[in-house]
Amino acid sequence: MIKYKRLLIKLSGEAISNPVNKNIFDHQALEYITDEIIKVKEMGVQVAIIIGGGNIFRGNIAARWGIERAEADNIGMLGTIINSLMFRTALKAKSAYKIRVMTAMRMESFAELYIRLRAINYLDKDYIVIFAGGTGQPYITTDYPAVQRAIETKCDAILVAKNGTNGVFSSDPKKDDNAMLYKTLAYEDFITKNLNIMDHSAILLAKENGLPMHIFNFSQPAAMLDICKGINIDVKNFL
Ligand code: UDP
Repeated sequence: MIKYKRLLIKLSGEAISNPVNKNIFDHQALEYITDEIIKVKEMGVQVAIIIGGGNIFRGNIAARWGIERAEADNIGMLGTIINSLMFRTALKAKSAYKIRVMTAMRMESFAELYIRLRAINYLDKDYIVIFAGGTGQPYITTDYPAVQRAIETKCDAILVAKNGTNGVFSSDPKKDDNAMLYKTLAYEDFITKNLNIMDHSAILLAKENGLPMHIFNFSQPAAMLDICKGINIDVKNFL
């Protein structure tokens, strides 16, 4: 039985890159993640995707580089659009699903502007929708628009892909042998325990709107299918 009808999947730019040889794109990584997403679609789930731009540029290095933060964030947002186009073409090559990239700012020669009701309409029609360009505003990362778009387009939950970690730990498992993996977690715990797996602004938005979140290891095959079947870490309000 499927637990969710409509999901937003949040990927980091590193999901399609190669951290070893530092290539911003990696063909094998792209093939893997597109296959995983197609498996979710084949279960009958409506899928929206948002991908970060960290494989290309992150605005938070602005101070180190002596450049303006807002401009650095613009460059980061453009990175998310490049990744979204790469993702669209990889998904298209592997499936017959219709795909739409919707950007937060005008990019009309290769993507359409995000309009909430139009995005909902595409999801209703079973298209894969990729949200690109974040919110179009600086000083945040893609975590916040991931939660925002999920709520706006009435997704039942958000799945947050993490590389090489099975979920949220009480401390860094690479440094602490006693690190404990949380099976379930209240939104508040992210904040009070200062768990930095996602931006706290995004967690607060999810909390306010009761959006369930699942953090999963994207290098574990079929992890998203397990979540759709009701297995895996669950972050929600337990109050
Ligand atoms: N960004 C932004 N506003 C947004 C979304 C993203 O300014 O609404 C910028 C920000 O500089 C961020 C970069 O785009 O660092 C790339 O996104 P992110 O860091 O979330 O990428 P990820 O770590 O998920 O690959």
